[in-house]
Amino acid sequence: MSNKQRALAEPFKIKMVEPLRTTTEAYRQEAIKRAGFNPFLLDSDDVFIDLLTDSGTGAMSDRQWAGMMMGDESYAGAKSWHHLQSVVKELTGMPHILPTHQGRAAERILYGILGGKGKTFLSNTHFDTTRANIEYTGAAALDLMPDAALNLELELPFKGNIDLKKLEDSIQQIRPENIGAVIMTVTNNSAGGQPVSMENMRGVREICDKYKLILVIDGCRIAENSYFIKHSEKGFENKSYEEIAREMLALGDAFVMSAKKDGMVNMGGLLCLRDDALSLKCINLLIISEGFTTYGGLSGRDMEALAIGLTEVFDPDYLHYRIRSTAYLGERLKKKGVPVVWPIGGHAVYIDAKKLYYNIPVEEFPGQVLVCDLYLKGGIRGVEVGSVMFGKYDSDKKLIPADYELVRLAIPRRVYTQSHIDYVLDIFDDILELRNKKQGMRIIYEPPALRHFTAKFEMIN
Ligand SMILES: *Cc1c(COP(=O)(O)O)cnc(C)c1O
Repeated sequence: MSNKQRALAEPFKIKMVEPLRTTTEAYRQEAIKRAGFNPFLLDSDDVFIDLLTDSGTGAMSDRQWAGMMMGDESYAGAKSWHHLQSVVKELTGMPHILPTHQGRAAERILYGILGGKGKTFLSNTHFDTTRANIEYTGAAALDLMPDAALNLELELPFKGNIDLKKLEDSIQQIRPENIGAVIMTVTNNSAGGQPVSMENMRGVREICDKYKLILVIDGCRIAENSYFIKHSEKGFENKSYEEIAREMLALGDAFVMSAKKDGMVNMGGLLCLRDDALSLKCINLLIISEGFTTYGGLSGRDMEALAIGLTEVFDPDYLHYRIRSTAYLGERLKKKGVPVVWPIGGHAVYIDAKKLYYNIPVEEFPGQVLVCDLYLKGGIRGVEVGSVMFGKYDSDKKLIPADYELVRLAIPRRVYTQSHIDYVLDIFDDILELRNKKQGMRIIYEPPALRHFTAKFEMIN
């Protein structure tokens, strides 16, 4: 990668500012206590650097805002719809484009039709809303990562790949007629934002052809994935990011996108299909639950901004800044001695909280302790991705811990500057001083499902 020695200057300048409020540690102590030691329950106004998610939290460009003013709000056949449709058709090569209000609406429509009792979906990793929409229909969802990719520190270029042997074995075992679809998540969000190689996607396509299966690409970070392919996969050095994305999407039968990521907008989604019959079924559900075919779940201005965002995201200067600025945080944390998941993915840095707070047993949620400490010390908001999020209970109400105790720091697009990130790095000096701490947490309230959003905690003394 070039420019390694030089500071990574943001390829944009600031035209409008949104003030951030600084608070004292004493104030934050009260705020996190009121929030039941769950950063999801904090007011954003009390947060200084918000790394909770990269979903819908990005900044739009001046051109996108200008596009908002030009949005055509006609019910049917709006200009903004034609603009969006032509951009997405060119990117995907798919004839049927269905706009939805966000990614999970596209998932609910598609998997509502392909799913149902007795069906199984196979994926590199199902994102949580994907899995939820599949399981809601009564179908099952299997993740098929290669064993090597489960090692958090191993340096491999495409740790988001699916294991092709496991894929084919599973198809033979479950029988092709029982498979709802093969879903490739690109980049692989739940596996650290790690990329998928073109070679792996081609392999999946071959297997899908052999067993006549539908290949869905869940590609809300398709541009970020293209960056990794261009810089790490042989044969792609001289292709543009857009060419690489088009080549990958050409391998899919369907494309599901949460536009809140690489769509560079705050709300929106897409469902794109090749097959006429399947698209007719999906359009019926779209009209019932989202809206008419030429707007779905979006207003005209949303579609205009998305059409522009989908072209801006492939700008080489933007993508270089995007991927390298995420890596900047991860590489420097590693240099400080903070255990991070390696290599750094596209949209987030993951910290191994079990390793960092080695004295705190998993039953006392080291990841939750770390997100609270990050807030207390620096007003930084991250998210626990460990036993709070994925832990289960056995019949004796004893915790069955998650595989890992991670904390995710997701980077919103075009929002924070390098000095914000340097501030985050400084706060980790304070965090490292807490390494030997022994004080964990216990849950004092939890809902029956998706407890990480609303659970409340207390410190164990
Ligand atoms: C965000 C996301 C979704 C769901 O999209 P929403 O817009 O949040 O509904 C689906 N798949 C992946 C990989 C995602 O990252």
